[in-house]
Amino acid sequence: MKQVYLDNNATTAVASEVVDEMLPVFREFYGNPSSTYSFGSRVRDMLEKARCAVAASINALPEEVIFTSCGTESDNTAILSALEAYPGRRHIITTVVEHPAVLNVCRQMQDKGYAVTYLRVDSNGRLDMKSFEDALRNDTAIVSIMYANNETGVVFPIEEIGRLIEGRNCPGGKILFHTDAVQAVGKVAVDVKKLNVDMLSLSGHKLHAPKGVGALYVRKGTPFYPLLIGGNQEQGRRSGTENTASIVGLGKACELAVRRLNEEAVYLGKLRDRLETAILSTCPGAVVNGRTADRLPNTSSISFEYIDGEAILMLLDSNGIYAASGSACSSGSGKPSHVLEAMSIPTSAIHGSVRFSLSRYNDDADIDRLIDVLPGVIKKLREISPLTGPPKCAH
Ligand code: PLP
Repeated sequence: MKQVYLDNNATTAVASEVVDEMLPVFREFYGNPSSTYSFGSRVRDMLEKARCAVAASINALPEEVIFTSCGTESDNTAILSALEAYPGRRHIITTVVEHPAVLNVCRQMQDKGYAVTYLRVDSNGRLDMKSFEDALRNDTAIVSIMYANNETGVVFPIEEIGRLIEGRNCPGGKILFHTDAVQAVGKVAVDVKKLNVDMLSLSGHKLHAPKGVGALYVRKGTPFYPLLIGGNQEQGRRSGTENTASIVGLGKACELAVRRLNEEAVYLGKLRDRLETAILSTCPGAVVNGRTADRLPNTSSISFEYIDGEAILMLLDSNGIYAASGSACSSGSGKPSHVLEAMSIPTSAIHGSVRFSLSRYNDDADIDRLIDVLPGVIKKLREISPLTGPPKCAH
């Protein structure tokens, strides 16, 4: 049976060009980049080449890129570093729809006495910008707002937020601005200079590099306090012997992403639109979440009201099709998605939500296969859970 992988926001296939770049690091260049002899410095050169590629993909300087173990580490480091930098400031601004890598740090800080403002979104997943301006305080240490949502693909106005923060005069130093761009880098053009962000997180396994590697951009001059302390790797900003092969892979993945960005965005957007049009016309009661908002070209969150999303996934799985309900991290918990809840989508529709996320390795044949299978799956499940009246989640 042909396998159709439609869960690329959970993780992506490592590109073969990336594997090719990594293999010599395992086989030949296994030296420690901190060693001063030539066998070590050869690996150091490879890391620095990767750093340049990652920096170029977001228009940063190489010295502004710190390699980490994942997007989660980058997010944690950014927020905790800002709080360390401004010990007198006890306020954080974030949004209700962040990934747990941001939300759970904020909750933990709340337990330690910090005040946290969670900005709300509308029924299409758009950020309430008026409440953002109202939320800024003189004791705000950091604003951490995601670039694009992992469940709906909705893109936030990071450039506009960056401008508002930059223009605000705050005694004792500017409010730091961090964006979790884990789902954005590699899918849309990300330019840290244009965005006016102080810190930005990205993760290798979302853009065809391996799992277990990420990066944190820290704008030159931003006060920074490391999370990991030890042998002073990454100029003391992230200790621990570098994951050399994966870092080299991340560099290659960024290089590929930049080269193909525009072409791929158009390609993915067309596939995604075809998928949505076909599902809406063949599956009664289907609604695309966040449809009218600015979205990533590869992501589609669709609610099938009154149907159990997990049952849809199981039947798709038995047909070799892989998708997700809500975010990969929270699926299996049985809890409704906090993102769709924040969009005021009825519980009956949240429980019937499926996320399809595409990559460069998907093609029309994958969409054909989904369209062949899904209407039958929905029809079968509708026999158990009939659609009563018009879908309530028509937003
Ligand atoms: N932030 C967002 C928006 C994500 O989607 C994810 C992963 O799904 C993360 C952070 C965490 O990244 P990682 O899996 O590399 O820790």
